[in-house]
Amino acid sequence: MAELQRSVLLSLDEVLFRLLAVARDRVLPETEKVDTFDALGRVLARGVVSALDVPPADNSSMDGYVMRAADVPAAGTVLPVSQRLPAGVVGQPLQPGTAARLFTGAQVPAGADAVVMQEQCVALPDASGQGLGSVRVDAVPSAGQWIRRRGEDVQHGAEVLAAGMRLTPAAMGLAASVGASRLTVRRRPRVALFSTGDELVMPGESLKPGAIYNSNRFTLRGLLLAAGCEVTDLGIVPDRLDATREALRRAAVDNDLILTSGGVSVGEEDHIKPAVKAEGWLEAWQVAMKPGKPLVFGAVRRGDSDSEALFMGLPGNPVSSFVTFLLAVAPVLRALQGCTDAMPQAVQVRADFDWSTPDKRREFLRARFNAQGGVELFPNQSSGVLTSAVWADGLVDNPSGQVVRRGDTVRLLLLSSLIGA
Ligand code: AMP
Ligand code: MG
Repeated sequence: MAELQRSVLLSLDEVLFRLLAVARDRVLPETEKVDTFDALGRVLARGVVSALDVPPADNSSMDGYVMRAADVPAAGTVLPVSQRLPAGVVGQPLQPGTAARLFTGAQVPAGADAVVMQEQCVALPDASGQGLGSVRVDAVPSAGQWIRRRGEDVQHGAEVLAAGMRLTPAAMGLAASVGASRLTVRRRPRVALFSTGDELVMPGESLKPGAIYNSNRFTLRGLLLAAGCEVTDLGIVPDRLDATREALRRAAVDNDLILTSGGVSVGEEDHIKPAVKAEGWLEAWQVAMKPGKPLVFGAVRRGDSDSEALFMGLPGNPVSSFVTFLLAVAPVLRALQGCTDAMPQAVQVRADFDWSTPDKRREFLRARFNAQGGVELFPNQSSGVLTSAVWADGLVDNPSGQVVRRGDTVRLLLLSSLIGA
């Protein structure tokens, strides 16, 4: 027991290095084909290569008339209209000295080289009212104007989406634009989640004296779903060694990762570490970050087999578990899915706040953009104040001992890039 309670103090970078080394070694081997339609948030296991040019042919970006620029030497030139081309219709080659009526997206006929928007043209019906009439062109066109070129978006043979990319809505659209109806993606990580703590009750239950509502179960499950996981929720596990071991054994059977909150400190009621140690192996770390600090990483054996489920134990304080998930668990989940960009995006922003009492540990301060484009801090940065996590747009990544003065430039991790990204 004494041995378990000696935790190693590490920087977050060192922790990430160790976590990612293990996760990259255990990228989920299974891939599956899914409809592009249903691929949001999945990670591509195979890149998407285009078998066509997009757009497939030159087409008009305006409603108007298409012609040869050389046929309109001066504003006011009148040309007979030789054909009408709605989007989706392939016309005849353009007869020299004529114009074709066409609409946005319509293919530009061979021989034509300029579109004039309809606002700069006047349609002149012919006397009989039967034919297409003619058009007076009131602006001198330059060759190529208002024409979207074949292949200007995607060229035949180009890899439009690379393996390891997480599919955003725009990426799904791009895959569809090159005709890909199915995509090869990595299987979703299967994650079992449980909360420890005899003080916890569920919303809907009455709050007896000494109890608090279990918020981590909601936050962490939401984060896991947003990260593209299949979640098995095992609820609340009592603060007892046998119950914790039993929950771990059950969770290991069908899951790639077991995630818990609470019970990783050094109190007598903290059973996570001895339980994981008994059921597999662990490394208990004190991470030099605030909020956060205790983090348990390890694995739990699956029955008698050689295989094991990874284990990550987060601290119980709601903001600590939220931040530790974003900075340590999310990169592991991305790496398990073969994501090439496991690390969060950071931007440099102006501090519209003073921070004169920095911690010795690297801090992640809940911050939000103001209308002037700077960031402000939530007034209470305590690790129990979940309001700060809802209020924030991001986390100011403040180095150990760093005083911040109004107007300084600070590093901000955007929550939008951390969650689900
Ligand atoms: P622990 O890490 O178990 O020592 O818990 C640290 C603090 O977080 C305590 O104040 C707990 O009551 C609180 N806590 C632990 N688990 C949860 C949870 N699931 N939801 C809300 N608060 C929690
Ligand atoms: Mg506890």
